[in-house]
This record gives sequence, structure tokens and C-alpha cells, in this order.
Amino acid sequence: MISFKKFIKTFFLTELLKGLALTWKVMLRPKPTIFYPEEKTPISPRFRALHALRRYPNGEERCIGCKLCEAICPAVAITIDIHERDDGTRRTTRYDIDLTKCIFCGFCEEACPVDAIVETPIHEYHGEKRGDLFYTKEMLLAIGDKYEGIIAKAKEADHKYR
Ligand code: SF4
Ligand code: SF4
Repeated sequence: MISFKKFIKTFFLTELLKGLALTWKVMLRPKPTIFYPEEKTPISPRFRALHALRRYPNGEERCIGCKLCEAICPAVAITIDIHERDDGTRRTTRYDIDLTKCIFCGFCEEACPVDAIVETPIHEYHGEKRGDLFYTKEMLLAIGDKYEGIIAKAKEADHKYR
């Protein structure tokens, strides 16, 4: 009986036809290939790439120089100096991130009590020498100013999970 079944399978080339059917099925599926950079895949609101320092809508820097981000950074990539202003508030005089050390863990963003330091979804950046990936306070604030719309939208999309 077993050999008769085997004979029928062999005679009608069922295994071959099954294989061809699978080939056609896969060939007719929509192709998952993305033609980057012209086409892009969706990015999660939690995507962690280039850092930015944010401001409040009145232009005031959010960062209060508490140094929690510096303390928590496992890569020791953040360096902060602070000063106290006449009104008793603190602000940073220096806020550097060395992106050659950063492992994009997001701990700095998690630790920040005022949502000042954030990781944007901007991953299309590069440096041609080591110093190019050393971001100063001015550079980080400029990124924050430029991409505030994207940052605020990502925060809004993720707020119920935070
Ligand atoms: S993402 Fe992680 S490694 Fe990078 S600066 Fe923030 S805390 Fe440090
Ligand atoms: S970015 Fe946030 S955590 Fe870091 S020093 Fe400023 S306020 Fe503190």
C-alpha cells in the first residue's frame, strides 16, 4: 500500500508541483524590498538616535543642570558644567555628548526630569573624523530647535506608556 502511494506521488510529480505552487505563491507576493533612501520604513516613536536638547515654548532651556543624565550614562559620554543664575536657578555652561562613546541606551532621556535631553529619530548623520561626533550644548540645542515638531509628536505618541 505504501509503495502504491509512493508510485502515485512519483508518477504525477506531486512533490514537484507542490514546489512550483510555492514558488508562484512567493513570486506573486508584494515585494518587501525598500529602496532606501528614497523609500523609508516607519520608525517607532521610541527610536533612539541623534540627541537633542529641548527648550520650552518661550525659548528658555529646559535643562536645569541636575546632572542625572551625566550620572546615569553607562558610557560616560556626557559632560556637564553648571552655574547658578542670579535668580537662584541653575543652567549648564557646558553640555557635551561624545557620540563615539554613546551606546544609545536611552538612560539619559529616561533620567531627565524635565524632558530636556531626548533622542530623536534622526539617524542619518555621520562624522568623518572623531571630533565630528562630539556634540556641544549649542549643537544639541540647535538640533532640538530644528526638530522640536518631530520630538513633540514622538513624545505625544508614546506618553501613555511613560
Ligand atoms: S543614550 Fe545612553 S550611552 Fe548615550 S548618552 Fe544617553 S545614557 Fe549615555
Ligand atoms: S538634561 Fe535633564 S537630566 Fe541632564 S542635567 Fe539637564 S535636566 Fe538634568
